[in-house]
Amino acid sequence: LESKLPEVGTTIFTVMSQLANEHKAINLGQGFPDFNPDPKLLAFVAQAMADGHNQYPPMPGVAPLLNAVAAKVQALYDMAYAPQTEITITSGATEALMATIMAFVKPGDEVIVIAPFYDLYLPAIKLAGGTPVIVPMRPPTINDPSYRMDWQRVRDAIGRKTRLLMLNFPHNPTGLVLNDDDLDTLETIVHGTGIMLLSDEAYEHIIFDGKKHQSLARRKSLAAHSIVISSFGKTYHTTGWKIGYCCAPKAITAEIRKVHQFMVFTVSSPMQHALAHYMQDPEPYLSLSAFYQKKRDRLHAGLLTTRFRPLPSQGTFFLLADYRRISDLPEAEFARWLTVEHGVTVIPVSAFYRDPNHPDSNHQLARFCFAKQDDTLDAAVAKLAAI
Ligand code: PMP
Ligand code: GLN
Repeated sequence: LESKLPEVGTTIFTVMSQLANEHKAINLGQGFPDFNPDPKLLAFVAQAMADGHNQYPPMPGVAPLLNAVAAKVQALYDMAYAPQTEITITSGATEALMATIMAFVKPGDEVIVIAPFYDLYLPAIKLAGGTPVIVPMRPPTINDPSYRMDWQRVRDAIGRKTRLLMLNFPHNPTGLVLNDDDLDTLETIVHGTGIMLLSDEAYEHIIFDGKKHQSLARRKSLAAHSIVISSFGKTYHTTGWKIGYCCAPKAITAEIRKVHQFMVFTVSSPMQHALAHYMQDPEPYLSLSAFYQKKRDRLHAGLLTTRFRPLPSQGTFFLLADYRRISDLPEAEFARWLTVEHGVTVIPVSAFYRDPNHPDSNHQLARFCFAKQDDTLDAAVAKLAAI
C-alpha cells in the first residue's frame, strides 16, 4: 500500500500512554489532567442538553461562544475580532492547525517550524504538499540550562517560497514563553515579507512567575496576517472534549472555514453552549496560571530530591528534566526504560524533532506533565527518588 506519510508511525503520546497502561505506570507523559473539570462546567453541559442543544450547531460555532471568545480576546489582548467572521470554533487546536495548513499551504510552499515542535506540525505540512523548513532552538547547555529562541536563524530561513511561520508559545515541550522584545523582533523579521503567522497558543492561560502571555493578537501589525489558535482542553481541564478555536482576519478566516466545514463541519453543540456559559466568569482562566505554578513548583522541588535535574519552565503544564546523572540511553529508550523498570512515564523530547534517532535530537531530556493531582506528583517523585 502506498502511504502518503511513510515516515509517520503512531503519535508518541498514544504510544507512551499505552505503555503506561500496560505497565500500570504513573503517567506523566501525555499532557492531560488526571482530575475532573469544575462541576459547574459539567452542570452547564447537562443544562445545555436539557435545553435542547443537541442538533447541528452553526458551522463556525454557536453565537454565544463566538461572542465569549471575542470578548475575552478583546479584554486580554486588546484586539477586536468580529465573532461572526473572524473566529471559528474547531475540534481542538488540532483541527485549527490542520485546517489552516490545508487552507494555505500549496505544493512547493515552505513552512518554517521551530524545533522542538509538536508532532502534528510536520505531517500536516507534508499532507498539504508543503516543505517544512526547520529552525532549531538553541538547546540547553551546562551554563545556560534553558532552550533559547534564535531569531536570527528564523530571519535567515525566510525566503521567496515561505508561506507560513509556525510559532507555539507558551512552548510545548520547553515551557519557553515570549516577551515583549520577542514580539518587536518578530515584527521586524516579518515586515514586508508577506508571510503568514500560525500561532499555536494552546497554553495561553498557563504562564508563570508573573509573566504576561504575549499573544500575537496584541500587535495589530502581526495580527493582520496571523492565525491565533487556542484550546479549551488546556484551559478548562477538558482535553477529551476536543474543542478549541482560531482567530484571524476575515479573508483568512473565510479560507479556513472552507476546510473546516468539510473536515468536521462543526463541533459538539452542548459543549459549545456550556463553554460559552462558563466563560462569562473570567476567574477560571485568570487563576489557571497560579493553579499550575504550584504544581510546577511541587514537581520541580520533588525532582531536585532525585538524580534528575529539572530545567526552568515558564509556561504550559510541562517541564523538562535532564537525566544524564542516571543514564546515557537515548531519550526514547530512556522513556521506555523508565516506564517498564520504574513505573513512571515521560515523553522523550526527541519526539519533537524531525528525526528522533539523530544525536542532534537527543539531549538526555525527558518531558514531565504536571497537570496531575498532588498525590500523583508525589507518588511519581517517590519512585524517581529511588533510582
Ligand atoms: N498544540 C500544542 C502545542 C499542543 O500541546 C496540543 C495538545 N495538547 C495541541 C496543539 C492540540 O490541542 P487540542 O487537544 O486542543 O487539539
Ligand atoms: N498535546 C498533548 C501533549 O503534548 C497531547 C495531545 C495528544 O495526545 N494528541 O502531551
